[in-house]
Amino acid sequence: MRNESLYSRSGYGVSLQQLLRSLKKVDELKMRVLAIYHSHPDGDALPSARDKKEAAWTVPYLILSMRRQEARAFLLPAAQEVPISVE
Ligand SMILES: [Zn+2]
Repeated sequence: MRNESLYSRSGYGVSLQQLLRSLKKVDELKMRVLAIYHSHPDGDALPSARDKKEAAWTVPYLILSMRRQEARAFLLPAAQEVPISVE
């Protein structure tokens, strides 16, 4: 999904229409959402206070730090890290 936030360097978000279209496509393909991905262009691969506050899914949140070229995953809002393997 495309980040539709007005503040795309400090937050992320999508419209309800885009979310529903994407979930419908996932369902049609008989797939499931395994993780939610977003990047931190200038920060670390750690969940921000806003990430924790706005977390709504029970799947891991994969966060990519562009500055450190690092990816980490967390269950939010608890910020429990989930081991990942990047190949
Ligand atoms: Zn974040």
